[in-house]
Amino acid sequence: MFIPMLTQGHRSYITTPIYYVNAHPHLGHSYTTILADVVKRHRSQRGEKVTFLTGTDEHGEKIQQMAKAQGKEPQTFVNEISHKFRSTWEKMGISFDIFYRTTSPDHTGAVQFALQKLKDRGEIVFREYEGKYCVGCEQFLNDSELNERGLCPDHLKAPEARKEANYFFLMSRYQGALIEHMEKNPKCIRPEHYRQEMLSFLRQPLTDLCISRPKERLTWGIELPFDSRFVTYVWFDALLNYLVATGWPGEGWDQKLWETVHHLIAKDILKAHAIYWSTILLALGVQLPSELHVSGYWLVEGTKMSKSLGNAIQPMELEAQYGKDTLRFYLLREMSYGLDSTFTLEGYIHCLNAYLANGIGNFVSRVYTIAKKNLGTVSLSESELTETDRKLLLLRVKTREAWDLGFAELKYQNAIKAWCELVTSCDLYVNEMKPWALAKDPSQIQRLHVVMGVCLRMIEALGILIAPVLPTAAREIARALNLGEHALESMGTHFEDRMRFVLTEDTPKLFPRAQMPLKENHS
Ligand SMILES: [Zn+2]
Repeated sequence: MFIPMLTQGHRSYITTPIYYVNAHPHLGHSYTTILADVVKRHRSQRGEKVTFLTGTDEHGEKIQQMAKAQGKEPQTFVNEISHKFRSTWEKMGISFDIFYRTTSPDHTGAVQFALQKLKDRGEIVFREYEGKYCVGCEQFLNDSELNERGLCPDHLKAPEARKEANYFFLMSRYQGALIEHMEKNPKCIRPEHYRQEMLSFLRQPLTDLCISRPKERLTWGIELPFDSRFVTYVWFDALLNYLVATGWPGEGWDQKLWETVHHLIAKDILKAHAIYWSTILLALGVQLPSELHVSGYWLVEGTKMSKSLGNAIQPMELEAQYGKDTLRFYLLREMSYGLDSTFTLEGYIHCLNAYLANGIGNFVSRVYTIAKKNLGTVSLSESELTETDRKLLLLRVKTREAWDLGFAELKYQNAIKAWCELVTSCDLYVNEMKPWALAKDPSQIQRLHVVMGVCLRMIEALGILIAPVLPTAAREIARALNLGEHALESMGTHFEDRMRFVLTEDTPKLFPRAQMPLKENHS
């Protein structure tokens, strides 16, 4: 089994999409943001220096319309929603380094620089265009992109016939180069089936990308530097955020950081990233992102989110009710990365109870209670360990391998499952060793020290492994073991074979059992 090792001191750059401010933060946004946070913490724990970007995408026709409908200036409207995103992530403990906004003056300058550069190089031309325009998508759609009833498949609305003169980015020029890149770099889009999907899309001729909107219908955007009658198409504007955040095109561009970018997205914006963004970069002469990680959708109760259900699964409210970081654990355990998953409240509560409350929570509290009551300070030495003790301790290393392999392969579910199995092995060990019986027999006091010591070493290891997913629980464990609050997050992934544990006074509080809310009857 080959596990790519992360190199100490290596830098990397991970991004979520910058979220469009036409909606408040929901489960889909939360998943990608939580995953990016987990990945950052996982890599940081292994010595990488990670820069994590998230933010908001704030221009375009939909935003202009929504602001107008609410009687607000667009800037006021986007400020409010952007703040909502930022404060949601802060409250959820998301460790982003950059919160990017496309209405910042630096962004405007960089987008205009890119447009002018492409125009000067002959990559942008002015053309009359007649086609089918979807307001929801904010773009013209080809016949092949419509469903069998001639509707936009995403918005289920008939596109409007529009005739417009616009500027086009000659994306079609880069079709060959893009195919070559995707074929030569098997990791450029992951999981693999999305790379195949894009390669198969590229078997059709690639059209050019309309990158302007006339001001008669849209003013809320970045003005074209070479024609003040137009603003920039929102996707062209937004995608540049990733690059501009690294200092491009200024003197201080951190080109090294750009070489390690991993974009995390959901599949609805795969084409915009794999095709538009890649060809824009090719035309600008900038290196392509090293990896694009693509997730499926979160469905709610197998269907579209209804308003009442939508209220029930506000990410913030879930964690407020059921415990900090519980959503992180559930989302990572439930989704097979790359495929769609269904969120159910029953599934979430089952997961909490089975793996957190009855799993790690129960194991920690069992061990802590017996050790605290009978020993206080636990000491053991290597020579006292039996074969069974050693076998359990060895599982720490095996689990770390499975855990890291899960992360390397984007099979986060496998990582979490391996960790849950380790908790089960610990429970079985306790059942077999019966420390409560040892505690009653004064001649067995030394054996009780050893059994409790083994369990406490296991708890420390479980805390270290799970820290990227459950940082709050890892801190609680570190506190109970008297190691200093942030010890488990900052000590790397080495498992210390401690000879002595001095336990703190108050019992660690991890995960309370959750109950299904009573069904309300609205009829
Ligand atoms: Zn549409």
